Amino acid sequence: MQDIEQTLQRYFGYTSFRLNQKAIIDHVLEGRDAVVLMPTGGGKSICYQLPALLLPGLTLVVSPLIALMKDQVDALRISGIEAAFLNSSQSFAEQQAVIRRLPRRGAARENTLKLLYIAPERLVGEAAFTEQLQDVDLSLFAIDEAHCISQWGHDFRPEYLELGKIKQRFPEIPFLALTATADALTRADIISRLGLTSFTLFENSFNRPNITYYIRDKQGYFEHLTQYLRQHQEDTGIIYCLSRQATESLEKKLQQQGFSAAAYHAGLDKNLRERRQEQFLRDEVKIMVATIAFGMGIHKSNVRFVIHADLPKNIEGYYQETGRAGRDGLPSDAILYYGPGDVFKLRHFARIEGNEAQSRIMLGKLDQMVGLCETTGCRRKYLLNHFNEPAPEVCGACDCCLGEQVSMDGTVEAQKILSAVSRLQEGYGVNYVIDLLMGTSAVRPQHEQLRTFGIGKDIPRNRWKQYIRDMLRQGLLLQSSGEYPVLQLGPRSPEVLKGTLKVAFLMPAGTKDQKPSRNPAQTELHPLLFERLRKLRHSWADRENVPAYLIFSDATLRELCAYLPLNQRDLSAISGFGDLKLKKYGSSFLEEIRSYCQEQGLSTRIGQKAPKKKAALRSGIGHGDSRGQSLELFRQGNTLEEIAQQKGCLKATIEGHLSYFIRSGELSVLELLAADRVDVIMKGFDRSGGEALGPVREMLGPEYSYGELRAVLNHRLWISENPTGA
Ligand code: ADP
Ligand code: ZN
Repeated sequence: MQDIEQTLQRYFGYTSFRLNQKAIIDHVLEGRDAVVLMPTGGGKSICYQLPALLLPGLTLVVSPLIALMKDQVDALRISGIEAAFLNSSQSFAEQQAVIRRLPRRGAARENTLKLLYIAPERLVGEAAFTEQLQDVDLSLFAIDEAHCISQWGHDFRPEYLELGKIKQRFPEIPFLALTATADALTRADIISRLGLTSFTLFENSFNRPNITYYIRDKQGYFEHLTQYLRQHQEDTGIIYCLSRQATESLEKKLQQQGFSAAAYHAGLDKNLRERRQEQFLRDEVKIMVATIAFGMGIHKSNVRFVIHADLPKNIEGYYQETGRAGRDGLPSDAILYYGPGDVFKLRHFARIEGNEAQSRIMLGKLDQMVGLCETTGCRRKYLLNHFNEPAPEVCGACDCCLGEQVSMDGTVEAQKILSAVSRLQEGYGVNYVIDLLMGTSAVRPQHEQLRTFGIGKDIPRNRWKQYIRDMLRQGLLLQSSGEYPVLQLGPRSPEVLKGTLKVAFLMPAGTKDQKPSRNPAQTELHPLLFERLRKLRHSWADRENVPAYLIFSDATLRELCAYLPLNQRDLSAISGFGDLKLKKYGSSFLEEIRSYCQEQGLSTRIGQKAPKKKAALRSGIGHGDSRGQSLELFRQGNTLEEIAQQKGCLKATIEGHLSYFIRSGELSVLELLAADRVDVIMKGFDRSGGEALGPVREMLGPEYSYGELRAVLNHRLWISENPTGA
């Protein structure tokens, strides 16, 4: 038992396990098969890397991305783990050198490998390699990105099908299949194609609590984008565009404004592509402007934002792409610029692509994506529900929950729109209806006589579009299908026209200041020291010839700034300092911290490594936003109801805000809920053994709200990461 925790600390420098890592590792060590569904950044790698260290023989990791194997192997090596990879990028001699280091049964174990990463094509046609495995002392097969075996998935790799044969051939060696793809079809496919008969399925919540979701109006997006990027100059991130051409033109525009940006798409020369990826991994390029060809398997942990300049085709893609932000668990943003033009374009593509059945599916998926953009409820809830996971009404960390949308009375505007639609005899589309309202020259002469002609001059076109979209969403207006959709009245339109039904529109609050409120890293603790440590990390990275984040994650640097450890022992308490890293890099980091402390007259704060502080750090200090405001009001003694009333939002929203701080350790769950309620809910989670709210709610009944369950869950998540404070 002790062994597992010690190994985690020694090689990875972590003090505790995340999610169900521990249960998975125990299971693997017992020699049993498992399928692991864990969101991106959840920490799948440790589920096989740690057993690899404890099992006697070799752990073979099948991974589809050659370009990224090196990265993973480098990360292991600098932590003192014997690992290598085999793929087509190596010369014959290099491959032989690796093969010579495989542990053979009955042979001496000097300098032999614990982990070998191989590309799936090594499994096909190369009988020789599988032959060579016959006398290798194998302990475990880990199948990374296991969804590649499914034709239903978006990354189907035919070579993965060979894995079924491998399972037959080595029935006694445990298989561990891992994926971040959640849908049931893919999951069933993985199980049947690998031929797993007796296995355990480990599921996790797909929620990514550290990502804040924003959906913005695409109108004028470039200005908003550059404003955002300027506020996050030191951060790295990805901007996704729909077309290759779009990536290049945005790259140019950003470079002209002085940003460190590079384009990436499948049409670029392979060498250039590799170079840019490498530059991004090494923080030499801060912003990757890419098509979706970029990102699969990118393990860069400090991607702080993922921005969609164009609408993704479906929620699966959106979730996966945004999931690349914040693998290190630090607050990160996902921003999508949404406009009706994209919907039109993608609908068109979906119609002409594939056969009729495929088109139908694509259109359906697109509608769900549009639904996410147009929902006025919590974005996270919509996302999680899409993956069949129940969620509370509000999360406190999306534009909707942060109260960035306000409701306004739009009855008069709605009446104008409906009256225009009715006078045009339901025969025209959105743009023409607006032309009529605004009285433009595009209006046909016979329509200039209509009473609605020009009655909406005072409002910009863009705003009218938003109103119409909102009415469509509310079902107050209908739109025909087909190539040229026309606007039609809905069943409740007469009530609106008569004034017996009031209409409310949702508008982004403070449209002028549309910046997400996360603070950039520098404005947090000891920015100067952070910068110096970052430089030091960079110089080590250069020396070792690996990307900086492989030396230490941003989260580790952040902890150093917070606790200012001044000796080796204190340093070992910082997450990320395993034995080897402590030995290699420890003294240089200590030196930097010591001299900083001397200059500034500071002393160590390691003694106060109170988990609360540690977590406060993670959530970003000085939340000068709606969430922080709620916390302040709560601390001043206001009840949830009072805060909700003051801020003009739902009580559930406030619950969501406060839950966020429970997750970060700044607020104790006991300040929010009575101890006996916490107790009951805790037991519920213990019994369900997972993180999903649904099963616990079912167990406890409606007397316990989702908000309360979420609060207790966040408390559990926090204590699982801060065991000393529990
Ligand atoms: P995944 O493959 O599921 O996307 P990774 O295995 O790359 O995720 O892990 C994501 C990040 O989380 C990595 O930086 C990893 O080192 C870190 N990590 C994993 N497990 C833990 C843990 N128990 N404590 C702290 N950090 C962890
Ligand atoms: Zn939300």
